[in-house]
Amino acid sequence: MSTAAYAVIDTLAIKHNLSVISQYAPQCKIMAVIKANAYGHGLLTVAGVLQDVDAFAVARVDEGIQLRQAGFTQSITVLNGFVGEQELNSMIQHNLDTVVHSEHQVEVLQRQQGKNLISVWLKLDVGMNRLGFKVDDFTVIYQRLLKCALVNRPLGLMTHLSCADKVNDDITLNQIATFKDVVSGLAGEKSIANSAGIIAWPESLTDWVRPGIMLYGISPLSDDRRLDLAPVMSLHSKLIAIKNINSGEAVGYSGDWVSEKPTRLGIVAIGYGDGYPRYARNGTPVLVNGKRVPLVGRVSMDMITVDLSTLAHVKIGDPVTLWGQGLLVEEIARCAQTIPYTLTCGITQRVEIKTFSEDHG
Ligand SMILES: *Cc1c(COP(=O)(O)O)cnc(C)c1O
Repeated sequence: MSTAAYAVIDTLAIKHNLSVISQYAPQCKIMAVIKANAYGHGLLTVAGVLQDVDAFAVARVDEGIQLRQAGFTQSITVLNGFVGEQELNSMIQHNLDTVVHSEHQVEVLQRQQGKNLISVWLKLDVGMNRLGFKVDDFTVIYQRLLKCALVNRPLGLMTHLSCADKVNDDITLNQIATFKDVVSGLAGEKSIANSAGIIAWPESLTDWVRPGIMLYGISPLSDDRRLDLAPVMSLHSKLIAIKNINSGEAVGYSGDWVSEKPTRLGIVAIGYGDGYPRYARNGTPVLVNGKRVPLVGRVSMDMITVDLSTLAHVKIGDPVTLWGQGLLVEEIARCAQTIPYTLTCGITQRVEIKTFSEDHG
């Protein structure tokens, strides 16, 4: 019996979530965002399940190359774009589409020659202040790019919303209006919405949507609106020891947690070395044999401790679930004062990723 922590990826749940996206955005083409190893779920596994989407998006050039080398022939957009000539050449060689967001990139494109062209998403910055051109510069850059021999026509036109998860804030409507205003009259397909846009801002639905987190069955909204999404990743381990302690005994590093009564403790083989969050607070729920018990004491590198006092029959080797079906990663994220994105992305290399498909009906 292996005591290693492992994650299970439910491939049918991914398909289900894709169908939910299509219901929200029936007229739109879907660019599935599978950057950062598909948010920790496994790049090639997830890409394989999503064969039917119109395009993929990754963040980095090497992620796109990995997909090409595995034989994927769909359009692949690199959201961070390229820096320098070498990276541009490598993108062209692997037929990757780029986001153009900076003057530097335009200069590189203007200098470069070659017979293979590159498709471009020109990015407008509507308030994130990360990547993208400012409103005042956008049209001039658009014209300059059209004159680049290397660039396919028409250009794609995109932006990224900075606050789409704040459903009661008008800032998103202003950002959408700014984008629509700047691109009106310019030829080319348009793209605004990430997951939160798809769910909360119908105004952001244009030619293309770019869902990430909701593909993985996780709600992008900070309010707790439970959508019809199916969790994709579950994280599991096992009980490797059980022990009884007296009232007043301290548990774990620094002895932060002290028992208030005689307590039966379970030691579970998972820790921050696997990606379980170091800052999960005392009381964070953990499923032992499918039943909720509280985390007690600090999370270590390879272990956590839980209070088993409420469970009648429990033994070494019993299964433990850290998140997944019946215990949403959103809840664990709240207990660790983080967002679910960091938890699924943070699964480390020693966690084996298995795939599973069970009919959701
Ligand atoms: C990551 C990313 C997305 C997907 O965002 P989610 O919140 O995961 O849906 C969409 N667009 C861009 C530009 C991104 O960087």
